[in-house]
Amino acid sequence: MLQRTLTQLTIINSFVFFIIYFLFTAILYGYLSYRLFDRIDEAMRWHASEFRFANGQVVPLANPIFDPRIFVLMRSTDGRTLNPVPFREEELKNIAEITAAIEVGELTTEEYEGHSYRMMSWPYTYQENIYDPATNFQIDSIIVISIVDSEVQLLNNCLWLIVSGGVISVFGIVLAGFLLAKRAMFPIQAAWEKQQQFVSDVSHELRSPLTGIYSNAELMLRYPDRSIREECHRINAIMQESKRMTKLIASLLTLARSDSGKSDLSLGVINLSAVVHEVVSHFEVFKELNDISLAVTIAPAVEIIGDKDRLHQLLVILLDNAFKFTPAGGQVAVACHIAKKNAIVSVSDTGVGIVPENVPRIFDRFFRGDKSRSRNAGGTGLGLAIAQWIVEKHGGRIDVKSSLGKGTNFIVSFPLPKKTAGPGRTETDKKRG
Ligand code: ADP
Repeated sequence: MLQRTLTQLTIINSFVFFIIYFLFTAILYGYLSYRLFDRIDEAMRWHASEFRFANGQVVPLANPIFDPRIFVLMRSTDGRTLNPVPFREEELKNIAEITAAIEVGELTTEEYEGHSYRMMSWPYTYQENIYDPATNFQIDSIIVISIVDSEVQLLNNCLWLIVSGGVISVFGIVLAGFLLAKRAMFPIQAAWEKQQQFVSDVSHELRSPLTGIYSNAELMLRYPDRSIREECHRINAIMQESKRMTKLIASLLTLARSDSGKSDLSLGVINLSAVVHEVVSHFEVFKELNDISLAVTIAPAVEIIGDKDRLHQLLVILLDNAFKFTPAGGQVAVACHIAKKNAIVSVSDTGVGIVPENVPRIFDRFFRGDKSRSRNAGGTGLGLAIAQWIVEKHGGRIDVKSSLGKGTNFIVSFPLPKKTAGPGRTETDKKRG
């Protein structure tokens, strides 16, 4: 599938490059052609419109420009064509001035009254021949001719270069298209591999509770005469596995919704302090059960813009982990306050800590530092992935500091609402203003 996408991307990229190439060269060609003919057309139009014939003579132009490539012809009513004055007196004067310095056998370019004249002098080896113009000629129209061989030649060469350049650059364009497609495929490939990994992890995670349920039910069926009391450990195992599966599926649903962008939060101003209080109160019982002390420092009425249920879920994940990974006799501390224009929630414990190389991976889906410990404690490896998503959805960030064997501290910071007047500030914050 990825190979097909790569081919399709290469074709699309190459096609776009070709379009860009031909658009660019077409604009270049059009501009060149416009520039080449523009001045000639203007000069020809000027010669045609200014041409006047009076008293049997051509009236000289007010500001004559000698353009050796432009010929003005007259057409008579009876269809004869005549070159009235090959070079008028005025022009001849100019020509004489321009060519005054040229030596026989020389080829040179001269500037004269803002124009460049390329000229050449060649020795004359033939007898002199003078042309006598026709009389009795009634003018019907003026024909202006300019030799544009060089322009046409230049444009033809240019067109040839564009086409042959396009053909030659096919290889380069396809190669560039391929390399770009390959570059664009990196994130697609990474997402694809991640997705494959995710699917295989999900299958694996679902298989173990299902196997547990199946084998316990099968064993119960082997002894149909046994009472519920006798089989209660199996029933309990089935219930535990079902619970784990339900939790896993709920987590997967949350992540699937988060991936598809469908899981929108219902945001509003919420009292974060109250949410932390509520979640902490649910964990009081764990504290008793696991012989873990719980220290709570919550500044009053810290308000943020957020989704109450999701923030509740986030705190449950963090506190659940803190209790799960802290042995008896340890301590879990929860704090909520405002610092540096952020609402901070900190959950720390004096538990087992995280191996340093695992720290960057703990937010990955299905990552579990100690698989058996986490699984036994009902962990799915999805908790922190969901926690991270919730924090990011609130525009906040989650950091972790951990030291192996000493404990772990998760610090979550949320931006404060724009117009927070300062509820939840500590006395020091209030003094700072
Ligand atoms: P689960 O807890 O279900 O295994 P999580 O995504 O919540 O999955 O956590 C991923 C991993 O991060 C855990 O398996 C554990 O290795 C590590 N971890 C998370 N919180 C703590 C903590 N408070 N102390 C030590 N390790 C932790």
